[in-house]
Amino acid sequence: MTLFEKIIDRSIPAFIIYEDDDSIAFLDISQNTPGHTLLIPKQVSESFLDIDPKTLGKLMETAQKLAQKMMERLNAKGMNILMNCNEEAGQTVMHFHIHLIPRYRHDELNFGFEKHPESLEQSYEKLKGMVL
Ligand code: AMP
Repeated sequence: MTLFEKIIDRSIPAFIIYEDDDSIAFLDISQNTPGHTLLIPKQVSESFLDIDPKTLGKLMETAQKLAQKMMERLNAKGMNILMNCNEEAGQTVMHFHIHLIPRYRHDELNFGFEKHPESLEQSYEKLKGMVL
């Protein structure tokens, strides 16, 4: 059982700000900015990559409404909405979660992304002609 399932069943405490039949949202313990929240589905899945698409669709609608209300309440000026998939991408809790990170003028949060040396042409060779 993951940590987040324990938050869902209340066996560990969390600062829960929203809950419905399918999802729950609580403050991220790390608070990268004030109000940093995690929205998770109650249905078990590891990440964006394996969640059932219908559940994902409903969760994204909830994420949008929650983000709008959070911005109002916090008087935030922007929002980063992030999903880390797998350890290589920085995922530490293997229950799908959406980070809602409110942004404020001059909040100084820096994700530190750097440009990779692989050329656009090399990446394009690997990715062109997608069929879904
Ligand atoms: P990720 O790196 O995308 O897997 O994010 C996991 C997040 O869970 C991190 O930002 C942690 O700060 C957060 N986290 C870990 N334990 C708890 C907890 N008990 N309550 C709230 N957030 C937590």
